[in-house]
Amino acid sequence: MTTHDLVVIGGGVAGLTIAWEAARAGLDVVVCETGDETGGMLRRGTVAGVDVDLGAESFATRTSGVVDLVADARLPVQFAPPKPAGAHLAYRGALGRTRRAPLPRRALIGLPADPAAPDVARILGRAGTRRAAQERSLAAVAGAEPSLADLATLRYGAAVTTRLVEPLCRSVYSQDAASVRLSALHPALWAEFAERGSLTAAVDALAPATRAGSAVRGIEGGLWRLAAELQAVALRAGAVIRTGTAVREIRSTAGGTLVVVDGETLPTRNVVVATGPAAAARLLGVDVAPAAPVRLTVAEITAPRLAAAPVGSGVIVAPDVDTPAKALTHVDAKWEWAAAALPAGTSVVRLSARDGVAGGLDTPAAVARAVRTLTGVAVSPGAVRSLTAVTWPDAVCPPATRIALTRAAADRGIRLAGAVAAGTGLASVIPHARALAADLIAHPTPHEGARHVR
Ligand SMILES: Cc1cc2nc3c(=O)[nH]c(=O)nc-3n(C[C@H](O)[C@H](O)[C@H](O)COP(=O)(O)OP(=O)(O)OC[C@H]3O[C@@H](n4cnc5c(N)ncnc54)[C@H](O)[C@@H]3O)c2cc1C
Repeated sequence: MTTHDLVVIGGGVAGLTIAWEAARAGLDVVVCETGDETGGMLRRGTVAGVDVDLGAESFATRTSGVVDLVADARLPVQFAPPKPAGAHLAYRGALGRTRRAPLPRRALIGLPADPAAPDVARILGRAGTRRAAQERSLAAVAGAEPSLADLATLRYGAAVTTRLVEPLCRSVYSQDAASVRLSALHPALWAEFAERGSLTAAVDALAPATRAGSAVRGIEGGLWRLAAELQAVALRAGAVIRTGTAVREIRSTAGGTLVVVDGETLPTRNVVVATGPAAAARLLGVDVAPAAPVRLTVAEITAPRLAAAPVGSGVIVAPDVDTPAKALTHVDAKWEWAAAALPAGTSVVRLSARDGVAGGLDTPAAVARAVRTLTGVAVSPGAVRSLTAVTWPDAVCPPATRIALTRAAADRGIRLAGAVAAGTGLASVIPHARALAADLIAHPTPHEGARHVR
């Protein structure tokens, strides 16, 4: 049996990036992907006759990772900027009514750079704004780092936590602000805060001057194309990609590593695990608490008032709003290519469900209700022409799981790639995968030194 140079487990964007890098460096690479197609959380669907994303749909421009990969691999894709309308926030205002307002222009994870700015004050109300404006004059935080929710409340007051930080944290990171720390979510902001002693000053120093939601790019025709083209260049470089191939076990033997798939073992010098967290935990023999799945509904809606984009590119929802949705993306209001492809008056809307909410957005009536609450446009169930409900069972990697997986992989001399190692999002996953591939090409056997890293 041939001993491969590298077996990559998982054909998501991380696995494909590593396969391309390793194959073009001359390594004999096999990618094992359990699904029928590669791409992982970059997946194509067809709604209203138009190809759209059923997973990730944009990438953050805080790193040049995606742009560099496209240039270096010469991927034949075109970048698309989002339309300038920006996103809104839905929150519970006075008398319990749902209010909507543009997201503050200058904020990071909902933490405002200027609590008195009109776009922040409108959301916080008078008392909330007064309290938040005191942040600059508070003493620096001492002792252990509190959760992001506690930190935001301590520094800015409860209104900033409920109306801004919690909705942003849940919709972008799929985690409660009470269960994460700022140092893990945004290390640069935490460092800036430690230096300046004020979060307002730290956000002011780092927040882009552009409208919230505009520090992203998409790809003409959908982000799923990135994975499709990456697979094509990996194949051309000589990688072997085996779909429908679930890896069951990684067996370390005196003679090397065996990757066990159904009815077969693949001997290899190197293994990269680039799966979701639960799959990685099974392969590495780690016990981790299961995370809630991510649920998304993509709906085709024919409603002229909705097509007029009443909430710009979409809505992020505060937890106290009475709806099973935590975010809405109005696809054709965000991407020109989608607007151009859809018939006039037809919109495509992505609704992501609150964590733990199952079945709340999978009927036309439920979708119509959620759209009405979040956009203010009365949509009838009959206007919801089609809906596609997608469940991503292994998308969220809580910090404790990441630490456990990193330790277990290092102990076994196995490299860990993808969102489980780098954090959520292409802006982190792709540069991490490329750095890992460079290290693997330079040191093509597992390093002994890495085995005991803690
Ligand atoms: C609904 C949704 C929207 C998102 N939106 C954005 C966005 O707009 N921008 C952004 O940057 N990020 C977004 N993300 C996150 C982003 O998609 C991920 O961070 C990124 O795609 C992770 O890539 P990956 O290669 O690490 O993992 P994955 O894409 O999960 O790939 C892992 C692969 O491993 C395979 N696998 C699992 N177990 C095995 C096994 N035992 N054997 C073989 N193969 C196995 C899986 O089938 C899968 O194909 C979104 C995620 C979701 C779910």
